[in-house]
Amino acid sequence: MPHSCLMSTFSRLPVAFVRGEGVWLWDAQGNKYLDALAGVAVCGLGHAHPAVTAAICDQAGKLVHTSNWYEIPLQEKLAERLCRLSSMDNAFLCNSGAEANEAAIKLARLYGHKREVLNPGIIVTEGSFHGRTLATLSATGNRKIQAGFEPLVQGFYRVPYNDLAAVRQIAEHNKNVVAVLVEPIAGEGGIQIPADGYLKDLRRICDERGWLLMLDEIQTGLCRTGKWFACQHEGVAPDVMTLAKGLGNGVPIGACLARGAAAQLFAPGSHGSTFGGNPLACRAALAVLEVLEKERLDARAAQLGARLLQDFAQRLAGVKGVKDIRGRGLMLAIELDRPCKELMTAALERGLLINVTAENVVRLLPPLILSDAEADLLARELTDIVRAFLAAPAAAGETR
Ligand SMILES: *Cc1c(COP(=O)(O)O)cnc(C)c1O
Repeated sequence: MPHSCLMSTFSRLPVAFVRGEGVWLWDAQGNKYLDALAGVAVCGLGHAHPAVTAAICDQAGKLVHTSNWYEIPLQEKLAERLCRLSSMDNAFLCNSGAEANEAAIKLARLYGHKREVLNPGIIVTEGSFHGRTLATLSATGNRKIQAGFEPLVQGFYRVPYNDLAAVRQIAEHNKNVVAVLVEPIAGEGGIQIPADGYLKDLRRICDERGWLLMLDEIQTGLCRTGKWFACQHEGVAPDVMTLAKGLGNGVPIGACLARGAAAQLFAPGSHGSTFGGNPLACRAALAVLEVLEKERLDARAAQLGARLLQDFAQRLAGVKGVKDIRGRGLMLAIELDRPCKELMTAALERGLLINVTAENVVRLLPPLILSDAEADLLARELTDIVRAFLAAPAAAGETR
């Protein structure tokens, strides 16, 4: 790459897209790519979805931004819609996942102080990802993301993911814990799916102790896992739920939803955002919710996920080097026994966009509007690529 005026925050694959439609992207040379990443679970409705495009264009021609110093009816409408879908009481609208989690962390601290806890603490997990701002990277369970940014924000207690005994142990020794913040499925952490009952038991512990259960549904929410929200697989209602990625289908928007006592903590002056919930973003999100609902994409994601898992399992049966195939809805993983970052390049060369996370986990987050034929194509192509990679001399996979 020649000199760039961009700060170096991503090591990018050598391709730029100029157009998208549904699950497909095109580069400037006219090459076509099947997008099984969807901008990291953002474009759940695929690219250039007509209903979202129409909503954005119409709103852009009317009113893009005013200010949170004025009433914004589209915000009211979006909050009402989100609360109805999630059974939460109210919403704070912002511009990203990290901001949604910042709001959640601030709610937990207000909640603690209200209960006269001097230094309110939040339990978080190893392998988690909550964002890149200082508070959210401090909450994140990945040293690589924190390194160099010390001093970290204090007040987080870390436990292994999917380990209830560790949560109970922290509770015994730290009277200042006021909340738990977890992902229902650890996305960046390699699509780690906790044992059945994990969220239910966390709910029970939180109820016993008077803690807030705060679920980071930024990646899992909005039909991605086959339900509207991943906590619904266990029938668990959190006190705080954060959303972002899939909410605007690419228009930046995040939301922090709260219920019960957590919904009564913010007052004018305690939190805010200049852009948060502006008319353009809210209009896009309303269009997204409408399509998700009308097309029953929760059920569709569940069905497609099952189909893909079965197809992967069949096509990779007995292939040495495949450690695990797992997923829920359209949040899917193929875990290998070796680092496999270069699979992203190998797939790109074959016209397939995938992601590798946690070093050795192929992560798929395709648009929820995938057709059966596209799903079959994805399974065929991907398993071919994985098989070829695993058959290559081991050194190739272990140098990076
Ligand atoms: C992506 C993600 C975030 C951060 O969202 P940004 O919009 O990048 O700030 C937080 N939590 C989870 C679970 C995520 O997947």
